[in-house]
Amino acid sequence: MRDETDPLADVKPYQGPISPFALDEIFIEDAFARDDERMWMPVTPYSWSRPLCLCASQGYWVHLSKYRGQGVVSCHRHPAPVHALIIKGGWRYLEHDWTGRGGSYVFEPPGDIHTLVTLPDVDESITLFNVTGSLIYFNEAGETTGYADVFTRIEAYAKHFESVGLGADYVKQFIR
Ligand code: FE
Repeated sequence: MRDETDPLADVKPYQGPISPFALDEIFIEDAFARDDERMWMPVTPYSWSRPLCLCASQGYWVHLSKYRGQGVVSCHRHPAPVHALIIKGGWRYLEHDWTGRGGSYVFEPPGDIHTLVTLPDVDESITLFNVTGSLIYFNEAGETTGYADVFTRIEAYAKHFESVGLGADYVKQFIR
């Protein structure tokens, strides 16, 4: 029986060919993982990271960053672009004159160096970051102290998932 009230009654899924070489999608029903803290890898005393897509083939990663409490998250330089969408809470960069809040979008151009700090009036922030290339970390003297890229992130997430009892291979579902 055709359902006259259903606007999708006559709509069929795509029936044509799909390349056997195409990769599988990633679907994460609850990206915020509100009920499972194990998804959130501690990065600093103030910040956690939840992987969404770790693109080893193109050298970028998409993750949610969560900040709680007040502090400096990191000072770093980007050799390649970053896109950020603040979902809740807020933060700012010491080097820029704006303050990001829930709903703010940021394009971090290649070459930008910034120090991310949390805000005194914000309990918790969640931001979606799409980071291409790497973060090169600096100390206050301006000396390079390390870096993160999709591979150091994959290894760190693997170690984290191992430590919370999910096994290192848990990270593989996020890799493309
Ligand atoms: Fe950045």
